Amino acid sequence: MFASLNDLHRDEPTILVDVRTPLILFDIDGTLLRRSGPHHRQALEAAVEDVTGAAASTESIPVAGMLDGVILTLMMKAAGLKATAIRAALPAVMARAQELYGESCPDLRRRVCPGVRQLLPRLLRQGAVIGLVTGNLSQIGWTKMERAGLRAHFRLGAFAEMGRTRGELARMARRQAMAEGWITRQSPAVLIGDHINDIRAAREAKMRSVAVATGVLPRAELVPHQPDFLLDDLRSFDLDEVLR
Ligand SMILES: [Mg+2]
Repeated sequence: MFASLNDLHRDEPTILVDVRTPLILFDIDGTLLRRSGPHHRQALEAAVEDVTGAAASTESIPVAGMLDGVILTLMMKAAGLKATAIRAALPAVMARAQELYGESCPDLRRRVCPGVRQLLPRLLRQGAVIGLVTGNLSQIGWTKMERAGLRAHFRLGAFAEMGRTRGELARMARRQAMAEGWITRQSPAVLIGDHINDIRAAREAKMRSVAVATGVLPRAELVPHQPDFLLDDLRSFDLDEVLR
């Protein structure tokens, strides 16, 4: 007996052809999470103080869209430390900041941006490989994902201590995914973020850019930077449309 056409197509999962497996990279702050509290800033400040003895503040630093290493460097500079002292202290300050954040990070499950909790499993069902490209230090980024209940969806990440710019981090993430055999040279890559720096990074890394207006920048400020897609939030993210 032949099954009817309906039976044959029922429950057939949408699986993309292997060579075109997409890589979808997410920024964290303002993109996956928002209003996650002062704990991250506080960990950076306390780390500088613990390691160097200098009282440092993030107050005058536009932290959005920046890499933690750059933020820490600017904080130490503002606190009067010399360039050589900053370079020498930076690895210990980064290690301390990650340790402190691990101790202070709150439950972030209610800080997840609209649409994210539905989108991540949907992307996995569509065959995508999902990663992080963030200005957070690695242990800070992974801690946030864990406390937000999102950790399991991410296969890889590129973090602040691994490069100098977000564009460099994005390229590293793609190289890693290729080296692991998860994606191919033909795979499309998408970088999703809430900041101009994310749009720039996507362009630098020759990836499609998706900007979301869930961070500090309103939609109107993202428009002039011409992301490939601009969304109010991730509820309206449509993979097929982005890959078309
Ligand atoms: Mg961001």
